[in-house]
Amino acid sequence: MKCLFCKEIDNKVVDSRLNKHGDVIRRRRECLSCGRRFTTYEHIEQTPVMIIKKDGRREAFSREKVRFGIQKACEKRDISIKLIDEFIDFLENDLKEIGEKELPSSVLGEKIMGRLQKLDDVAYVRFASVYREFKDVNDFVSELKILLHKETVKD
Ligand SMILES: [Zn+2]
Repeated sequence: MKCLFCKEIDNKVVDSRLNKHGDVIRRRRECLSCGRRFTTYEHIEQTPVMIIKKDGRREAFSREKVRFGIQKACEKRDISIKLIDEFIDFLENDLKEIGEKELPSSVLGEKIMGRLQKLDDVAYVRFASVYREFKDVNDFVSELKILLHKETVKD
């Protein structure tokens, strides 16, 4: 971190404090060159992962969109909202662990299918049959609706 006054890089931290929400660290630094003090703030990086769609457009990863799709795939299955929420938490962690700022939507789709397979067979088959054709998580929700409608009619 460059000194505000003399632009030297070397400094020492003289005080560190966490804000009351626990997401910002305020550090008081002392320049080793000119001895003056300045403050820096560290924030946890909260930028959402960007999903690269088939046509190259970028869209921020949206919990709500994914949740809607998963809920549709899990319709009439014995799966609680709490489980779906956990599912999305784990999914989001999977994406963050990859450590890339942008991911092709195919990676998101594969991650969802991998987790869904462990959660529920029927939900997995519903999701996969639609997803494989469309290869784009955001386009499949309407198709899922059609599929579910057909299943209902069959019953
Ligand atoms: Zn300085």
